[in-house]
Amino acid sequence: MSGKSDYLSLGARIAKLNISMTELTAYFRVKCSNCGHQRIVHDEFGKCEGVMNKPCSSGCDVFDPE
Ligand SMILES: [Zn+2]
Ligand SMILES: [Zn+2]
Repeated sequence: MSGKSDYLSLGARIAKLNISMTELTAYFRVKCSNCGHQRIVHDEFGKCEGVMNKPCSSGCDVFDPE
């Protein structure tokens, strides 16, 4: 694990995409019309992992933006 350097290089990659943190945050805060949870709790395949250690009760497995 190289923790901090991973974090810094990720920051550099995000900057290269010409995306502001405001836009990135807004992107991850979009809610799912299937389960009502934010995109950020859906994994890379779209499956919802739930919030606050509670699994998603809807069994959502595809993120669908509202
Ligand atoms: Zn969910
Ligand atoms: Zn969902």
